[in-house]
This record gives sequence, C-alpha cells and structure tokens, in this order.
Amino acid sequence: MRQFSDDIEKATAYCTYCPKMCRFSCPASEAEKRETVTPWGMMRLFELARDGSVELDGSVAETFYHCTGCRRCQTWCEHDNDVPEALWAARDWVHSEGLAPEPASHVTDQFEEFGGPFDEPAPSLDDESSRALDSVFDPDSSIVFVPDCTTRWEDPATVVAIGLLLARLNGGEPVALHTPGAAADGTETDRGCCGAPLAAAGDGAGWRRWRSGLEAELQEADLVVTECPSMAAHFSEGSSWGKQRRVHVEHLIGFMARELQEATPSEPVRLTDPMLHDSCLLTRQLGLADETRQVVDALTDGDVSEFDFNRDEAPCCGASGLYDRVAPDAARRCAASRIDDLQREGGRTVVCGSADCTKALRGEAGSEETVRDIVELALRAFAIEPPAHTFGEGGQT
Ligand code: SF4
Ligand code: SF4
Repeated sequence: MRQFSDDIEKATAYCTYCPKMCRFSCPASEAEKRETVTPWGMMRLFELARDGSVELDGSVAETFYHCTGCRRCQTWCEHDNDVPEALWAARDWVHSEGLAPEPASHVTDQFEEFGGPFDEPAPSLDDESSRALDSVFDPDSSIVFVPDCTTRWEDPATVVAIGLLLARLNGGEPVALHTPGAAADGTETDRGCCGAPLAAAGDGAGWRRWRSGLEAELQEADLVVTECPSMAAHFSEGSSWGKQRRVHVEHLIGFMARELQEATPSEPVRLTDPMLHDSCLLTRQLGLADETRQVVDALTDGDVSEFDFNRDEAPCCGASGLYDRVAPDAARRCAASRIDDLQREGGRTVVCGSADCTKALRGEAGSEETVRDIVELALRAFAIEPPAHTFGEGGQT
C-alpha cells in the first residue's frame, strides 16, 4: 500500500464511496464524456492503484492528468475535498516511477533548457539599449514585478507596459522587474516562470528546487506582484498549493483593487455587452472574485454582467493543469463551451483576468475583441503604450 498524507488518503476514501455529487461540475468529464475522468473516477483509480488492486502503468498514470486543477468539484463537495491536491500527489508518484505521459515529462526538459514551459528561450526584452528598461523599472525598488510566463514569451511588450502601469499605481515610483533579461537584484536569472507547470507535470523534486531558487532570488522584496494566477496561488499562504509563504506574492488584481482607490484611469474602456469570466485560480484559489469586479468596474464604462454560473460556481475554460497538452481537443471544447455560454446568455464580450484564460477563449471566439483581458483593459484605461524601441528583432512570437 502506497502511503500519502492523511488529508490525501481521506480525500480519496471519501470520493471512492461517494455517489458522485460533483460529477456535472467537472470540465474534463463534461468535455470527454467518460466516467473514468470524473473526479470520482480519477480519485477511485488513485485509491485502487495506491492499494495495489490496479497495477500502476502508463495508461493509469495518464488518467491522473485529466484534471485542470480548477477545484470546481470542491464547490459542490460536502466534504470540501481538494481533488487537485490529491491528483497532483498522484502525478508526483507516477512521475517518480517514470510513468508520466510525454507532454508532462516534456515540461521538465523545457524548464531545464529554456527556463519556462516553452520550446524556445524567452524573447529579448531589450536587444539594443538598456536605457528603455531602465527608464521603466528600478532595480532598487522593494516592489518586484514577476511577469506571467505566457506574457513574457508571447507578448513581451506587455511586460514593459505592465511596468509602466505598476509605476502609475505606485504613486509614480517604478518597481523592479524579475525575469530573464532583467533580474530584480541586478544579477541574471534564467527563471522565466514561477515553476507551477513543473508541479502540474508531477515533477515534484524539480518544482521544489525551482520554487526554492526563485524564493531565494526574491527574498529581498517586500512585495512581489504578478499577473500570473498560478504564481500567486502557489506562493501564497492559504491556497492549497501555497502552504508556507516565504515571499509575499500578490496578484496584480489584488494590487490594482487597492491602488485604484488612489489612481484614477484617464479613460474607462467602453465594451459591448460584456460578461465577466471568473478564472478558477483567481476565484477558487485566491478568493479575488470581489476584487476582480471592483477592478473591472473601475476600468470600464457601464455594467459588466454575470454569467448564470459565476464566482465559485464558474465553469473552467480548460486552460490549466497541463490539460491543454494532455487532452488538447477536450480542452478546446471546454473553452468553446464558455463562448457558447456567452452567446446563449446574451453577452458579446467576455472579460477575464488570466492570460491563459484569455488565450484559450480567444482560440475559440474567433476574434480578439470578443475576449478582453483585464490587464489589457487597465493599460488602455490608463492610456499606456510600451516604449516602441524596447524590443529587438524577433521580440514578438
Ligand atoms: S469531490 Fe466530493 S462530491 Fe466529488 S466525488 Fe469526491 S467526495 Fe464526491
Ligand atoms: S478540479 Fe476541476 S478538472 Fe479537476 S476533477 Fe475537479 S472539477 Fe474536474
């Protein structure tokens, strides 16, 4: 019998004997229409593999990756079971046995080679002149901005623009930047990501090393601000992944909700029939549902409507937990279902607070304008453009 923590063994036991109260809530089981990938199915399989009734092989191992980590099942669970916490432990186990599916083991290679979950290095922030970055960021600031890796790799201009936004929100004082090409303490860093994909991949040893290294690099900061919901969730105390806090990390939405009381946007953005999509991590992990609404109200002109299922009940778009790599077609169906909800409920624009949600929903919406990211709204409302000369050739992917 394989041993896990008491919390995890209790959770798998509850699920094994449960009448599947949460079944309808799971984006993976809805998208795949398979009993095996319901919360109950995955947790029961974990229990059977743990007690040796089922042999642990590649097929069993792969099943544990059909979870986005959204915690929507927990909303309807009478035992408040944290299914992703258990399944992440199952992934850790199968990874250590060399049975992780290829998309998960590939994540470790990507981190080792490129410092983040991508197949190429982070694009340069500043190929030609260090003066542009120096004018936006201050390495001596005690507030440090760590960009979301999706932003860093796929939209580096926005990294600089967020620096300008943070300075505006910080009473005109620039903050420090910590990312490849610009480390907060003036030294170099190879870490372009918080490391959460390593945890989702089941590379527990790699994740712990990565996390300690990043915490050491950030230990002088009084406050770390990020627009990455995964980083905020994994580094904050109180979230199921956060555990102990060694650096004080705050999500940009929490920072904006506080600072927007002092800094007023120059021009609130007008949207067409907007509805707010609650990101799983922002809402169910970080408890920022109210702050998200406060920020969206301050940045936009007019009412943003609620989906029928919102806040802790909001469906998941399928973008996290490596689900989009292990089951890409099913992940796309999760995002498409959210766009269907938008159309069925009378909205024409969906607003979301996570770069990964924005990317997934835009992939299904067919138009950038249909999906609006809260960071983009903030930049627009504050009329912020990144310095044009900051990016070198090939800076954009
Ligand atoms: S998470 Fe809760 S409701 Fe869902 S199967 Fe497990 S015990 Fe049942
Ligand atoms: S956390 Fe989300 S994806 Fe994972 S089992 Fe629960 S509802 Fe399904």
